[in-house]
Order: sequence, then structure tokens, then C-alpha cells
Amino acid sequence: MQKGNKRRIALITVIFIILYGVIGTFIILGYEEDRDVYFDSAYNELAIQLESKINQYKDFSQYYYEDLVNDESILFRYNQAVNGDETVEDTVRDELYNYYLSDFNTMQDYNVDQFSFFLPDGTLFLQMHDPNIYGMVSERYSVNYVNQEHVPISGFEMGDTSNQYHYLYPLSYQGEHIGTVDISVSITESLQELTNRYDDKDYLVIVEKHRIDNTIDSDVFDYYTMSFSDGYYIERDHFNETDFNVLPNQLFNQLLGDVADETLNLSNYSEKYITAYYEGSNYAFVFIPITNMENQNIGYLISGYSGDTFMELRGRYLVYGIGATLFIWSTFVFVLFIDQGRRKLKLLSQKDPLTGSYNRRYLDRFLQTEMARSKRTGHPFSLLMLDIDHFKKVNDLHGHLKGDKVLENLVVTINRHIREEDIIARFGGEEFVIVLINTGKDKAHHKAEQLKHLIENSNVADLNITISIGVTEYTEGATIDSLIHEADKALYYAKETGRNRAILYDMEMEE
Ligand code: GH3
Ligand code: MG
Ligand code: MG
Repeated sequence: MQKGNKRRIALITVIFIILYGVIGTFIILGYEEDRDVYFDSAYNELAIQLESKINQYKDFSQYYYEDLVNDESILFRYNQAVNGDETVEDTVRDELYNYYLSDFNTMQDYNVDQFSFFLPDGTLFLQMHDPNIYGMVSERYSVNYVNQEHVPISGFEMGDTSNQYHYLYPLSYQGEHIGTVDISVSITESLQELTNRYDDKDYLVIVEKHRIDNTIDSDVFDYYTMSFSDGYYIERDHFNETDFNVLPNQLFNQLLGDVADETLNLSNYSEKYITAYYEGSNYAFVFIPITNMENQNIGYLISGYSGDTFMELRGRYLVYGIGATLFIWSTFVFVLFIDQGRRKLKLLSQKDPLTGSYNRRYLDRFLQTEMARSKRTGHPFSLLMLDIDHFKKVNDLHGHLKGDKVLENLVVTINRHIREEDIIARFGGEEFVIVLINTGKDKAHHKAEQLKHLIENSNVADLNITISIGVTEYTEGATIDSLIHEADKALYYAKETGRNRAILYDMEMEE
């Protein structure tokens, strides 16, 4: 009985744990999906802003190239320099510099910070931003690429002093390749423009430290500063000159440093996001990898903005989670309560209220089941009819309440000495029936003797009482009535022959 109930409770518990797991999984999956949608749209927004900036400058530079460079008379002079001696070169350099000076000033207003010419072998011919430096051979990938392939190229490139987005075009004169022109836009200026335009966001570009350490000759910290991550630099000007919208300049970096460096795994270049909480405000940051013209990852474009919307989303799912938890576990307690209540009711309907032994209704059902089982399996079972000797005297001498106590304690004592699967049922008054499962008449007789001795030798409710027992075994063809009759006969015989006896039924008792 007890074992069955434990298994029932375990089953209900397991069902609820599984239910909790399933619902919990749904909530977590729902949260992850919504979070991904949220950050995907943030990535897309940032990517579109970046792309539209790049395209805008592409149009600018294309215009400068077409209008200012790709011109018959310019190319004619440039070709003379390419093929001429140093004197010619110097003359043409001066000419071009003066010719472009006012245009370059205008270009600078539109964030162009370099406008340079290279000879077909990569030699720097003229750079408008620093005309006194020329003559060295450029090792830049982009310049070599255009000089070899004779096609335009554009993309991020790290310079000695700053990072730029470059647009390079091949120059040709009468079908001959005569060099490369490079128009580049400052990243810092572009980020400043984005910051001005989208006033709820801030922008940061970080670039791999080792790439700059390798190229730069002078003190790196004149131009760059450490980012929140050891492996990355930020352009110094960007930091010092940009007016950030959401976060104070240094805080952007510092805040990311507090939350991001270990958790983000920056060396793995994929889109990333992180959220942070600082002095009562939530922030969110999305990271988009940047590649150079050789398609190598060189850093990230980071956008930072208020994380309130995301926190609302997270809060909503937190509420779902807590709600589901409360609901499921309170339902669990409720179901368990109802189940155990029903179980108790059922037990009550099967039991005698005074002694807690089974009642006659249950005894009948139990015997029916046992008879069927015995028929099926051939396993024997026996029935004991037990009656307290001179119980009337107990009542007379000690009162009815004491008599009740004796009945109660007798059942407790006997229950302790029969097996879990055996039962004791109150047959009426002070008479009880015990059914012993898988027990033939000899063993049953022996057991009855034991019980008789047990009661004789124990103080049931502080009294010395004895019992008489009639024993019979189920045989094929017997009925409940015939079994009771036989046990009763044996009990009667026990009473007749002096009481405090356990007697096995015998056919001869029928005479
Ligand atoms: P015997 O040895 O022949 O069995 O003698 P006895 O006195 O036990 O037999 P008898 O059948 O004459 O008396 C049974 C008594 O049990 C009568 C009745 O008052 C008492 N009795 C029956 N049910 C209860 C009960 O629930 N509580 C109490 N206290 N007494 C009960
Ligand atoms: Mg009696
Ligand atoms: Mg009696």
C-alpha cells in the first residue's frame, strides 16, 4: 500500500518536472528568438548605416576622379612625369599640387583626408596632405593591386597615423597604365558624422593592435589609444574630438572594458552584442566585423545605444518564467493535495473507523481477488477467524472505552506480525479475519499459534487477554461463505475446548 503511494507521488512529481522542463524550454527558446530578432535588426541598422556611408563616399570619390583626374590634359602631363627625368617630375608635381590645392580644401570639408598619386611602380608621386614627402615606394596592398590589375579597388586600410576608407583608381594615357590615384576618407570624421546624424547612438571603431604596431614608425600613441581590449586600438582623434550622444567618451570604452573583453571573444570575428548596466542605465552594444581589402578581419565597428528596449524584452520573459514557475509548482502542490486527499478518502471507505483494520466490504473484495488468483496460479491462501476470549468481561470490568482500546491495540499488534500483503479485517464485534497470502494450512496453523502466543504474552492495552483462532485453507470450489463457515467452525471448536487455542478446520467438525 505504502509503496504504491510513494510511486504515485513520484510519478506526479516526474510529470510536473517534465512539464516544467517543456514549458521552461519554450520560454527560453522564445526569449532567445526575440533577442536574436532584436539584435539582428540592430546589426542590420548598423550595417546599412555603414554601407550607405561607404556608398556616399564612393560617389564623391568617383566624381573627384572623373572630374579632376581623368582629364586629357592632366593625364598628358602626368604621363610626361612618369616617363620624364627628375626635373620633369618636380615640375609636374608642383603643377598638380597648385592645380588641386583649392579642390583639396573643398574635399577636406567632405571628410576626404588624402588625395595621392602613385607611379606605376608604386612610387609615391604626390600626396596633397603632405606634398613635401614623395619618392618612396609604397608597400600598400591597394596601390600594388591597382598598379598590377589596372582596376579600381576600395576598402578599409590602416595608415600610419589613422584609418581610412580608400578609393583607388588606375590612371591610363593612350592605353598605357601610368599609375594610381588614391582618394581616402577619414574613419574618425565619418563616425563623427554618424554620431551627429543618429543622436541616440554612439560609434566606435577598434582595430587590431598588431597591424598598427607593425606599420607605424613613430610613437603609436600619438595617433592611437588603447581600446577596452588589449588587442585593439582606437583612433585617438575619434576619442578626443567626437561628442558622444549616449555615453561619455571615456565611458564608452571603459564600460565595454568592464563587461566585454573576456566575454566577447573578439578574435573570433562574427557579429556580437553585449549589454551593460551602469549607474542606473542599461546599454546595448553591437559589433560588426570590419575587413580590409585583402579580406582579412582587422577590427570592429561598434554601435552603442540605450539598452532599455532590450531590458524590457528580457523583463517580459523573466515575468513569463516566474509566472510559469509559480503556476506549475502551485498546481503541483494542488494536484498532490487533491490526490492524497482522494487516497485518504478511499482508504477510509475501506477501513473500520475504530481499529483501522479493513472492513467487511473490503474483505469480500479482497477474498474474491485472492480466490481468482489462487485459481489461476495455484498458489494457496488461508483464512483465520480470530475472537477475543471473554471480551464481555473486559467491558464489564474495565468499561467499554477500555474494550475499544483493546480492540485498537490488538489490530496494531497483529498488523506488526503479518506480512505487508496480508490483511486483517474486522468481521464484527471483537471478531477479526486474517487472510494470509501464499500460505497453506500448515503454515497458516503455525502462524495462528504464533499470534495466539504473541497476544497471550503481550499486554494489550495493559491487560492480559487471550484469543482463539480458527484456521482454514482455500481449496478449489470454496466460496467466501464456505471459508468463513469453516474458520468459524474451527474457532467454535477452539472456544469449546478451553479457549486460547489455534485450531485447524477439520471435516469432522461438521458432525
Ligand atoms: P467468548 O470467549 O465466548 O468469545 O466470550 P465473549 O465475552 O468474548 O463473547 P461474547 O460474544 O458473548 O461477547 C462479545 C462482546 O464484545 C459483547 C460486546 O459488548 C463486545 N463488543 C462488541 N463490539 C464491541 C466494541 O466495538 N467495543 C467494545 N468495547 N465492546 C464490543
Ligand atoms: Mg469473544
Ligand atoms: Mg465474539
